[in-house]
Amino acid sequence: QAKAAGRRTFVRYDDSMDMSIRQRATIAGALRKVIDRNELHLVYQPRLALGSSRITGVEALLRWNSAKYGEIPPSEFIPLAEESGLILEIGEWVLREACLTLHRWRQHGLHELGMAVNMSVLQLLRGNFPDVVRRILADTGVPPGALELELTESVLMANAAQTANKLQAFRQLGVSLAIDDFGTGYSSLAYLKRLPITTIKIDKEFIGDLSRDPDDAAITSTVITMAHSLGLNVVAEGVETEAQMHFLRDHACDEVQGFWISPPLEAHACLAFVQQWGRRPAGAAPAAP
Ligand code: C2E
Ligand code: MG
Ligand code: MG
Ligand code: MG
Repeated sequence: QAKAAGRRTFVRYDDSMDMSIRQRATIAGALRKVIDRNELHLVYQPRLALGSSRITGVEALLRWNSAKYGEIPPSEFIPLAEESGLILEIGEWVLREACLTLHRWRQHGLHELGMAVNMSVLQLLRGNFPDVVRRILADTGVPPGALELELTESVLMANAAQTANKLQAFRQLGVSLAIDDFGTGYSSLAYLKRLPITTIKIDKEFIGDLSRDPDDAAITSTVITMAHSLGLNVVAEGVETEAQMHFLRDHACDEVQGFWISPPLEAHACLAFVQQWGRRPAGAAPAAP
């Protein structure tokens, strides 16, 4: 009990910017061994298409259960992994693991299911990353069209000149590309048009306040309209209530992801969830089962 409490004060979950330099160094040290120690695993969050009421895919989300510090959220260790360059190795592990899982699920009859994987800009900027992706797809037997890579908006913006070219290589592989956390950066229409992306994920910051904050509602409906005029698929993340889902459906948002549909789940539980969803009567209202 004392140990658990000590653990909790050591890693401050809510305020990563406040971690002391020593804490960061210690965690970064532990991070170096995580792959060998099998301390990483993925959870999967379903994505629901509002038009068809079908689960179209899942997003893989990384979890680190440290023997020493307990569960450390990705918002804390991903930045450390980026600083140390370890994100390259970890990111490759994530991609392979996610593709292996998807291949297994497709063998269970879920042939249409897609997999979204978060990518660090460090991975994107590394020259051979398209080759890494191509090799992992070939090794795992996942068709490129089933994979979507998510890159955060702020990161794309900060590296605008370099990224546009890099992204093209992935489109040529046949992989989909999403801008994650959209709305938190400063993308202009002109800029979006130049990027070979397929999907925009509206940040949960805007979704959470949809019914109370008219600004968030206006931004969300504008982003949906704008994205559609550019031929992009729109996903809303962080959908937690039925009211939010109704707003998004009324404004023609394509897909939703969030606790209202399902929290991120362990692989076996996610497979069961998707299978069970598929057995629901056709035309059933999309709502938490
Ligand atoms: P993200 O890619 O935007 O992922 C969505 C986050 O929102 C996830 O947090 C998810 O658990 C959480 N979420 C889902 N539904 C809801 C909801 O209804 N309400 C609220 N409040 N939150 C919801 P998580 O898993 O802690 O991940 C945080 C971030 O860490 C991710 O944001 C992503 O940027 C990064 N991340 C996670 N896994 C990876 C990875 O494998 N590689 C990289 N480079 N980054 C990752
Ligand atoms: Mg994401
Ligand atoms: Mg996001
Ligand atoms: Mg607001």
